[in-house]
Amino acid sequence: MIAQEQKPIEEILDYLKGKQKVVAMGCGGCATFYHTGDKKAVKEMAERLRKEGKEVTEIILPLGVSACEIDMSSKFLEKKRKAIENADALLMMSCGDGVQVIAEYIEKRIGVTIAVVPANDALGLVGGGPKKFKETCQMCGQCELGKTAGICPLTSCSKGLMNGPCGGVREDGKCEVDPEKDCAWVRIYERMEKMGELAKFEEMRDPHAWSRAKRPRLFEIEEPVNPVSTILSSLPAYLTLFGGPKYEEEE
Ligand code: SF4
Ligand code: SF4
Repeated sequence: MIAQEQKPIEEILDYLKGKQKVVAMGCGGCATFYHTGDKKAVKEMAERLRKEGKEVTEIILPLGVSACEIDMSSKFLEKKRKAIENADALLMMSCGDGVQVIAEYIEKRIGVTIAVVPANDALGLVGGGPKKFKETCQMCGQCELGKTAGICPLTSCSKGLMNGPCGGVREDGKCEVDPEKDCAWVRIYERMEKMGELAKFEEMRDPHAWSRAKRPRLFEIEEPVNPVSTILSSLPAYLTLFGGPKYEEEE
C-alpha cells in the first residue's frame, strides 16, 4: 500500500487561499487504511474548512473504491458534477496518484480547470501492518529480489546500493549510516548462505536496467478487472478473514 500522512493544515490552507468553494474528496483505497481519506478524515477536514468560512462539498469513496481507479471513482465525481463545475478547488485526500488521476478526469471529462491540491504526503510503498509498516519497494521497474535473497537493496540499504556493500559496514554488521539497523548487504549475504546460494553472491550481474524507470511509465492490461464479478467470485475466500489465528504484531 501507499503509506501517507496528512499535510500540516497550514500548508493545506495555503493551497486553498482565496478559494471559497471547495470539494473535499477522500480515497477509499490506501488513504482509507491510513485514515487520511476515510469518512472520518473527510468529515473532519470539511468541518475545519467550514470554520475558515469555506463552502465545502464532500465526496467520500467507500472502502475498496480507490481514487486512482477512475472507472469506479468517476461515478462519484459525476454524482457531484455540479458542485465540481462550480468549485474553486478540489482538495484530494489521497496519494499523489489519486490527485493526478482525479485532476485529469475533471479537466478532460467534466471540462473545467480547477486547482486539485493534495491533502496528504505519500511516503512510499510499504508492507506489514496492521499498525506498523515498512517501506519495501521503490517500484524501480526491474525487480532484483531473485538475485538478492528477497531483500530489496533499494529500500533496505541506506544508500540504495545495488551491487554489494559500501566500505562503511560496521564490524558488528550494522549500517554505516544508521547504526540501529543491520547492513542490507550483510543480511543478503547471510540469507543467501542459509539458502545454500552463496555462489550467487559472486556471480557477475548485468547492470540494473534503470531505463525501465523512464517517466512516465506506461502500461496496458489486456482485460480491465470487473470489480463486481471479482468480489462475488471471491466471496468464499473472504471467509478466510474470519478464521485462523489472530495475527499479533511484533513490538
Ligand atoms: S528491486 Fe525494485 S521492484 Fe524489486 S523490491 Fe526493490 S525497488 Fe521494488
Ligand atoms: S552499510 Fe550496508 S546498508 Fe548501510 S549504506 Fe553501506 S551497504 Fe548500505
